Amino acid sequence: MIRTTRLALPALCACLAVACAAPGAPGPRAVAQAGAVHVEVPAIARPEGETPAWWYRSGAAAAAANGAMAGRARNVIVFLGDGMSLTTVAAARIFAGQREGAPGEEHRLAWEYFPATALSRTYNTDAQTPDSAGTMTAIATGVKTHMGAIGVAAGDRHDCGQSLDRRLQSWLSLAAEAGMATGIVSTARLTHATPAATYAHVPDRHWESDVAMPAAAREAGCSDIASQFIEHVRATGGPRVALAGGAREFLPEGTRAGGLAGRRGDGRDLLAEWRALVPGGRVVHRTTDFEDARGAPAVLGLFEAAHMQYEHDRDRGPDGEPDLEAMTRFAIETLARDPAGYVLLVEGARIDHANHEGNAYRALDETASLSRAVQAAVDMTSAEDTLIVVTADHSHVLTFAGYPRRGNPILGKVRGSGGEDGDGGGYARDLLGLPYTTLSYANGPGYAGASARQPEGPKRHFHGPTAVQPAAGRPDLTAVDTTHPDFMQESLLPLWSETHGGEDVGIWARGPGSAAFRGSLEQHVIYHVIVQATPRLRERLCAAGLCDAQGVPVVPPVPAAAR
Ligand SMILES: [Zn+2]
Repeated sequence: MIRTTRLALPALCACLAVACAAPGAPGPRAVAQAGAVHVEVPAIARPEGETPAWWYRSGAAAAAANGAMAGRARNVIVFLGDGMSLTTVAAARIFAGQREGAPGEEHRLAWEYFPATALSRTYNTDAQTPDSAGTMTAIATGVKTHMGAIGVAAGDRHDCGQSLDRRLQSWLSLAAEAGMATGIVSTARLTHATPAATYAHVPDRHWESDVAMPAAAREAGCSDIASQFIEHVRATGGPRVALAGGAREFLPEGTRAGGLAGRRGDGRDLLAEWRALVPGGRVVHRTTDFEDARGAPAVLGLFEAAHMQYEHDRDRGPDGEPDLEAMTRFAIETLARDPAGYVLLVEGARIDHANHEGNAYRALDETASLSRAVQAAVDMTSAEDTLIVVTADHSHVLTFAGYPRRGNPILGKVRGSGGEDGDGGGYARDLLGLPYTTLSYANGPGYAGASARQPEGPKRHFHGPTAVQPAAGRPDLTAVDTTHPDFMQESLLPLWSETHGGEDVGIWARGPGSAAFRGSLEQHVIYHVIVQATPRLRERLCAAGLCDAQGVPVVPPVPAAAR
């Protein structure tokens, strides 16, 4: 079925002959890559010509040009650091290193040992700076889409009827249909943007339960994300492991499970429906029950009504909730029992939330937690058969600035020189004579002006103002402990929630097919490398007639829900 071996050489020769300079081809043009397979991509006017079919084909071409078809992955694990900008990564590595008593700059997070790296261009079809729904849909389905879209191609965010014809299949759903085991781990609600994009299809990410949907959308035939999770289980049998927060979206209002209150308006108990669909499956809500569920054929763990707690704030006792590393280990142990291989999504969701809240401590702490989860996966798998991809969906406006001396506390005030020519020593001072921190935010709730909740000056987490007074100037941080977990970095302009950033994020990869992650990639290429490098996935697509003559999947599959 797989014709790569036979076709790789002629394809490579053809590529060399024309220097890969096909019109409209998005891949590298000047240098032919080992194992490269050429896929023709039509030149289009942009953005008008960006159809779902074009996005899919262009992503396939870029992945094939980078040699992804040579991959032989049995298992795939994707780690998604939500909002994990490159600045967040650089600061978190120093944070983690300094916790171990080192200067920090030389420290490496788990994925910084991986051999393959690339840059990911994150824009949505309608947005220069993207959101998590559109970006995760690109990563999960190989098609870029609009801001807010979950598993559907670009269209009107408010038009349910239109979205029904634009549903896209994720690699997770494809894997379940191909007989592989699947798993989802997230510290956000299971219905939140990133996990939802692997199983649901809605034009607006906010439709997490029936009460969050407009009546018109329900009448037009759309269903909420939580109920689509149940439909996904019914249609594909997966996922075997789903560990996250968000119990409230699965339970009727007025009822509780494990002390967690529901908010559904339609009276459906989706946890009971899941149990009925998955014989032997265990539903758990706290650490002790989670540990007891080890060995169960399937586990649905919903540990909070909404998002799980930050690692810093988590209850570590038996009635509390597990951390990302424990959930990752549990998922891999469960999925690795399947001889057909598995795919797993692990989201460090709350990096994004802490950045939005203008609190660098929690953002870096969550990133360090993600690093421990990635290290667990590295330790538990082999680079011979398991492709591990670590990436972010989008950036944030966290900045890393000044000239702090080597080993300066990453959350501290800049101690060093005031400029490139300075000689170091005491606190660096701005032109007002005031010290400043290495980390700050371009916008967000850390603005120094007074709000209804906190006075003028530096802010403490949590602070989410709806209005602020103009600040008289910068706060004097001389006597402030800026390394305190609740210190909020200053923001230049006041917003109730700090925003995403529009620049590229990183991709780090290890294992079969990982070498295809290099260069400057459009974000949706991640899906195509995963699918092309995993024989079970690409064979499933080819069997459905969606591949070209070289065995490259070039036509988007239709998900079960839309057949
Ligand atoms: Zn966000």
